[in-house]
Amino acid sequence: MKLIVLFTLMLGCQLSSSIKKGNMIVKNKKYDVLVIGGSHAGLSAAMALGRLRRSTLVVDAGKPRNQASEHANNLIGMDGIHPDIWRDKARADLKKYKTIEIVSGKVIDVQKIGDSFKAQLENGQEVQVRKLILAYGIKNKLPDIEGIWEHWGKSVFHCPYCHGFEFRDQRIGMVIGANFAEHMVPMMINISKDLVLFTEDADTLSNEFRDNLKRNKIKLITTKISSLESEESELKYIVLENGEKIPVKGIIVGPIMPLEMNANFADELNLEKDEMGFIKADMLGETSMQGVFAAGDIMTMQHSVLGAAATGQMAGAGVVGQLSQEEFN
Ligand SMILES: Cc1cc2nc3c(=O)[nH]c(=O)nc-3n(C[C@H](O)[C@H](O)[C@H](O)COP(=O)(O)OP(=O)(O)OC[C@H]3O[C@@H](n4cnc5c(N)ncnc54)[C@H](O)[C@@H]3O)c2cc1C
Repeated sequence: MKLIVLFTLMLGCQLSSSIKKGNMIVKNKKYDVLVIGGSHAGLSAAMALGRLRRSTLVVDAGKPRNQASEHANNLIGMDGIHPDIWRDKARADLKKYKTIEIVSGKVIDVQKIGDSFKAQLENGQEVQVRKLILAYGIKNKLPDIEGIWEHWGKSVFHCPYCHGFEFRDQRIGMVIGANFAEHMVPMMINISKDLVLFTEDADTLSNEFRDNLKRNKIKLITTKISSLESEESELKYIVLENGEKIPVKGIIVGPIMPLEMNANFADELNLEKDEMGFIKADMLGETSMQGVFAAGDIMTMQHSVLGAAATGQMAGAGVVGQLSQEEFN
């Protein structure tokens, strides 16, 4: 049945739209689908739903994860596009699908009522929907270093694929806990040979990894970092607690666990999560609760614009398939 859903997604017919960027008032009280979060995953889900003419409300709080960045890279066909422009284009694409309504705002409560769901928005409005797509993203977490947020998304980045290439052959500081260092450091060597690893909890690094660091001429610094120093807003140094300054052009930070989501609906609905804290979902995004689908950063480690859009499309298809079967049978 899931394959049929995928085929029908690809064969889509024509449709309609009414997207009002900035609108905060929901027009109707009932929809087939509520999408919570209207960024890469949510907008992509909306397109699949719009093409299959499903009445869909997308509510978006307007704080996408890559907000601090001026470029979305590793995005074939639009590599390097400004993330805001990507989202504007995505919304513009959705305009022709009249069953899609996008509002700015925040969903603050979701409850399962029988076979459907009731959701409340921050502005007090309530809607009843048959299916839910959770696409509300995760929070950015950075090490506690003075000055780090000023450089976030510019010279401080978290993903080698997203921003590594822009720092190729330059001095890169890697501020990465021991648990992720063994995975990330080997990846970075092909971006730049001039790497310095800052790991406070280095005790747990294996001897083999330490030997490999030495062989690859990567300095390991275990002294605590106190701050970042910049000149005319440009990152210049990582400053250690002992006062030593290490010059760097860019900094890559490792993931900080546990993962924190932008909303608590997964826990409130008692959805299963995996050992990393992501919402468990099948290939079409359906979670452990029937009728609740998840997409984007909250359900996969593959954190990227295209990855989120792909899971959004699958969740849209999953919802279409389920609704279609329920109505037809
Ligand atoms: C600094 C930085 C740079 C990045 N650069 C790249 C890059 O170059 N290339 C790349 O492929 N990836 C990049 N990424 C990763 C990419 O941004 C994420 O993988 C992607 O944003 C995930 O999309 P999403 O739709 O799952 O979540 P998000 O984009 O985070 O969107 C979630 C949306 O849901 C909204 N929301 C949250 N709670 C609610 C609620 N209760 N009600 C309504 N709305 C809600 C949020 O406000 C937000 O608009 C970068 C990430 C960061 C942090």
